[in-house]
Amino acid sequence: MHDHRKLGRELGLFGSDPLIGAGLPYWLPDGAIVRHSLEEYVRRLERRAGYRHVHSPVLGKRELYEISGHWSHYRDDMFPPMDVGGDQLVLRPSLCPHHALIYRARGRSHRELPLRIAEIGGMYRAELSGVLGGLSRVRAIQLNDAHVFCTIDQVEAEASAALALIRRAYDAMGISVARYRLSLPGPGGKYVAGNWDRSVEILRSVLDGLPYDAVEGEAAFYGPKIDVQIADGAGRESTLSTVQVDFHQPEQFGLEYVGADAARHRPVIVHRSIIGSIERAVAQLIEVHGGAFPAWLAPVQVRLLPVSGAELPYAREILDRCGDVRAEIAAEGSLGARIRDGRLVPYQVVLGPGEAAAGELSVRLRDGRRLDAAPAADVLARIAAEVRMP
Ligand SMILES: [Zn+2]
Repeated sequence: MHDHRKLGRELGLFGSDPLIGAGLPYWLPDGAIVRHSLEEYVRRLERRAGYRHVHSPVLGKRELYEISGHWSHYRDDMFPPMDVGGDQLVLRPSLCPHHALIYRARGRSHRELPLRIAEIGGMYRAELSGVLGGLSRVRAIQLNDAHVFCTIDQVEAEASAALALIRRAYDAMGISVARYRLSLPGPGGKYVAGNWDRSVEILRSVLDGLPYDAVEGEAAFYGPKIDVQIADGAGRESTLSTVQVDFHQPEQFGLEYVGADAARHRPVIVHRSIIGSIERAVAQLIEVHGGAFPAWLAPVQVRLLPVSGAELPYAREILDRCGDVRAEIAAEGSLGARIRDGRLVPYQVVLGPGEAAAGELSVRLRDGRRLDAAPAADVLARIAAEVRMP
């Protein structure tokens, strides 16, 4: 596998500047295309699975995190508070507290549950500069997050459905699971008291039939979780996706719903992330594919190579007909050099005098295969179908 830091810079996907700071990469246009494509894919996947999207601010009052428990259990990973007009504001270390308040903003009935609230939102982690690098360890994280507010009886089905979405997204991205980890609490005072046994039992049922390791000391402070582990080129594991069961924050925020019995009950929160942080997901995509992204994610999907200046008008006409397919013309330099430069582009199209005269296109694939020349309309329709978001 490749090192995403090196390749990411070579391919012009992202960069950094000491004046912005360590762990704060910026995204260049081609990187932003990959990122936006992933975000669109995930939002659509979630919409189809019954999630509703929200937006919430990346800041909150310190008091909010005192209630959620982050302030007492997670403060070492948080940026220090900022004093503004008598309030102490903090960059949020997670999205859950905001989503809990959105849930609490009005009365809830059992008929609304499971209520699935999703957001691709910013969160911040005050990592030490020594561990930062590229996109895989950053201080400003864009998280594909969601919180499912549900009854205790709905938790297992919701957690299983989330795991199924994770596997589906990995298929679409062409990345694989290194290992499933059931992350349990360990010794020490990092964890809140609560319904751990029940949560662990539920997650064990969700993992039934899958190979997994139970590891102590890796749980969230508020509950156990399933971590979907990926591996980088050096075999180092990290967590990309998670499914967590939480009885703690519903209690802390006093969340309620009115049951069929007309009495008030407390929901459970399933925290889940399908593709984890956008930064880490793209780092993994770069390493696994060596920059040859699945066609739907490729910054450039079609590269048009006019053999000489005489075919340039034909290339421009084809470019106009590419519609939503991301296409560009490469006209400078020898044909061989241009083909090599575009080796990561899913479809390279050579336009010679024969093709121009016949209104045809000849396609070269990334594996070096060359398809027979065919009418332009047919080739463009086929490419449009193959680059479509899965
Ligand atoms: Zn959460």
